[in-house]
Amino acid sequence: MADIIQLLPDSVANQIAAGEVVQRPASAIKELLENSIDAGATDIKLIVKESGKTLLQVIDNGKGMSETDARMAFERHATSKIKSAQDIFEIQTKGFRGEALASIAAIAQVELKSKQEDQELGTVIKIEGSKVSSQEYGNTPKGTSIEVKNLFYNIPARRNFLKSNNVELKHIIDEFERLAIPHHNVHFSLIHNNSELFNLPILPLRQRIVNVFGKKFNEKLVPVNEETPILKLSGFIGKPEFSKKTRGEQFFFTNNRFIKNSYLHKAVCNAFEGLLNEDSHPTYFLFLEIDPSKIDVNIHPTKTEIKFEDERAIHTIIRTSVKHALGQYNIAPSLDFDTDPQFNVAPPPKGTIIDAPGITIDPTFNPFEDRRSNSKGRTALSPRVGIEKPAQQDWESLMNDLPNLEEHGTIQTELGIPQEEGLDSKIYLQIGGKYIFTKHRDGIIMIHVQRAHERILFERFKTSLKSHTSASQQLLFPQTIHFSAPDFELIKSLLPQLSSMGFDVDEFGKTELIVNGIPLEMEETSLNVIFEKLIENEKDFKNGIAEEQQEHIAKIMAKVSALKIGKKLEQSEMSNLVDELFACESPYISIQGKAVIVNLGSEDIDKSFN
Ligand code: ADP
Ligand code: MG
Repeated sequence: MADIIQLLPDSVANQIAAGEVVQRPASAIKELLENSIDAGATDIKLIVKESGKTLLQVIDNGKGMSETDARMAFERHATSKIKSAQDIFEIQTKGFRGEALASIAAIAQVELKSKQEDQELGTVIKIEGSKVSSQEYGNTPKGTSIEVKNLFYNIPARRNFLKSNNVELKHIIDEFERLAIPHHNVHFSLIHNNSELFNLPILPLRQRIVNVFGKKFNEKLVPVNEETPILKLSGFIGKPEFSKKTRGEQFFFTNNRFIKNSYLHKAVCNAFEGLLNEDSHPTYFLFLEIDPSKIDVNIHPTKTEIKFEDERAIHTIIRTSVKHALGQYNIAPSLDFDTDPQFNVAPPPKGTIIDAPGITIDPTFNPFEDRRSNSKGRTALSPRVGIEKPAQQDWESLMNDLPNLEEHGTIQTELGIPQEEGLDSKIYLQIGGKYIFTKHRDGIIMIHVQRAHERILFERFKTSLKSHTSASQQLLFPQTIHFSAPDFELIKSLLPQLSSMGFDVDEFGKTELIVNGIPLEMEETSLNVIFEKLIENEKDFKNGIAEEQQEHIAKIMAKVSALKIGKKLEQSEMSNLVDELFACESPYISIQGKAVIVNLGSEDIDKSFN
């Protein structure tokens, strides 16, 4: 038989290898940014079009490449960063495997321009699918520019696998932040579709964080500093009162490299214990400096998981240092931004009265109240404008028609018993601030108030999103909400949905929204939380199915706007709530999949007395 084994051509081998290094535009960007940092650049510009799908370009002012090196850089295993296997154990640079440029060039159209300080002319190389199409001299600035067009142009399957532009952009911003935060001695900028999302001047770490995440971070950060023989820990944690309802900004860096490590994450959470609500998350930016030989170096450069030799000790150091920092800040809250002389925020004019940050809560707010008489025209639980509602007078018969209540456990059906009482004669009892009890034929119905209200609001918001019919209340004083540039992009993409639900907002400036009106059933004080959650949801939202997205949004709105436990309710309010609940499509299951209504039949009651 003839021999059948052949060596794969380089271009094919590179293409296969590329799959490991470059999964999406963000991974190519990470590699290019890392190369620029390794080249000692102090100015790095990232330009992206269509979330990197059509163009991504990194321009740096680093040391550049010689003519030969520029050509060599695209060969597989071509690296200037290690010479022997031993070097890997002391690696100080971001890259070392010499695979990134070869991989990127295998699956895109690449143009490299590079010039070293002492060169008269730079080198310009064009390469496409691993094949060099031209190489010439060019009048280029010192440093390197790498332009990558049409990533995966020759692997359609991969290209089709890419997610929506929003999702890909989110990945890019993640990678950008993970590099820009630790390398605050480098000026970074990010331009997406001709609009500047970030421009981060060289400033100390604290200001870098503020420039990335927005001025609000100003007052949030508490420094952490601890030096032990095993490791040096530094950075910032977020004050507990600013913690987020959704996963906050959480960053670990080891020797300035972003890492993920759930065990160390738990150490931080542990230190915050008792200071945060159950559903809040700490913010942290923690930098571990540790002898590279104490880290498992057998890691793929594109992976962020990392193993430490002495994980338990590191856990303890992190936990105690964070606790210590929290304690310090409690005793001496003045250890604050103002003490950092380098921070370039202009002080307020003399005599300015500064309000303590805080949330205003209206203690008298009652979502069940009929507010038609007040200026907002709120009607809370009364029927909604423009939306068809099923008849709700007769919820007892609804209870009777339920085919498979048993599925939900405790609810039982008894068919055919005539309704003896009108609704008005019903008595509602509020128990424990949480439940409504009422008589139902020869038994008792128990309703979980918060879940019921969430269910009602959820279905309303969902209908609004689908039908674009909603009622809105105008705010007496329009509110301005400030976003970071990338968050603003996300929010902008949500504007149609927001307006469907009854928001009346205008874009203002480059990164602000003016809110003139909000949905009828929402409280003005929840505005910030809602936007925070919507943005977080949008970031996490990976599959891009419109319907699921609407469900998510409706859930967020319902959860934030729903009545909270402990609110005292009047008879009429309870009666309204119960009516509204039974007018829902699925009154029995909460939006979290738990029971909303439980029925105690006379048999169950009998049993309790046995
Ligand atoms: P690695 O970073 O692992 O060495 P890469 O494929 O990313 O491998 O890069 C190959 C080589 O090309 C690098 O070792 C470096 O010498 C050179 N290089 C890449 N990007 C730049 C840049 N922006 N400036 C200067 N040299 C660069
Ligand atoms: Mg590299």
